[in-house]
Amino acid sequence: MRMRRRRYKGDIRRIRQRNGRIFLVICLVVFGAAAVWISIDEEKSEEKAKQAYKEQISKEEQEDEQEPQVNVEPTGPVLADETEKQQWYLRLVNKDHPMTEADVPEVAIETVDANGYQVDVRIMQDLEAMFADARAAGRNPMICSAFREWDMQVSLYENKIERVMQEEGLTQEEAAIKASTVVAKPGTSEHQVGLALDIVSSDYQELDEAQMETEDQKWLMENSWKYGFILRYPMDKSDITGIIFEPWHYRYVGKKAAKEITEQNITLEEYVGAGPVQTPVF
Ligand SMILES: [Zn+2]
Repeated sequence: MRMRRRRYKGDIRRIRQRNGRIFLVICLVVFGAAAVWISIDEEKSEEKAKQAYKEQISKEEQEDEQEPQVNVEPTGPVLADETEKQQWYLRLVNKDHPMTEADVPEVAIETVDANGYQVDVRIMQDLEAMFADARAAGRNPMICSAFREWDMQVSLYENKIERVMQEEGLTQEEAAIKASTVVAKPGTSEHQVGLALDIVSSDYQELDEAQMETEDQKWLMENSWKYGFILRYPMDKSDITGIIFEPWHYRYVGKKAAKEITEQNITLEEYVGAGPVQTPVF
């Protein structure tokens, strides 16, 4: 019995020692696994951080590349510079910029067509090209007014005042103001410098708003800028030009100005930096 007990005690000790070793091994394994797991996890988060950093940098680079487009300041209107404003073809003639009879520039005038209409010789080439291309496109516009001598403008203006007085029962003074929105007072008409033409459709020769509906006029409105001409008194611009909408009055301003004025839908007054005409429009 004694030996058995001793053996028994010895067994218990061995079992305890073995259990202790097993426990230690398990602890080591668990600890080791935890260490490996933490280290893998750390690697992963380091990798993630690197990736995020890369993405951030690349995003910033992309933003930098886009920056010039994103931050482009809206550009102002393209207008005539000081040198251009002095050019003969940009000369502003209106109620606020009148000429006396002595101021009217002496320019070489040339006859355009069989009807005897005349213009400044310097615009002849572009004018002829515009008419040639219009005809080639199947259109048939015709000139009904061009260069006017001083006396001619005087008689047109006075006749208009007479008609307005009769038709509308206005005083001479009132009629003169009203007439000047349709027929320019002598000294304020572009026709007097040989740079303006009234052009109508051969199918419809009236000087009224229906003129804009003709095929000939549509062609001119769409194409005249290519030859250096602008529709000088557009719709809804009377408060600037001081002249009613005239879908027949074309003014030569040169090709560069004609393009810029047309593209921006502005008037010659705006292009040369002049204020709106002050005389009221009825
Ligand atoms: Zn005209």
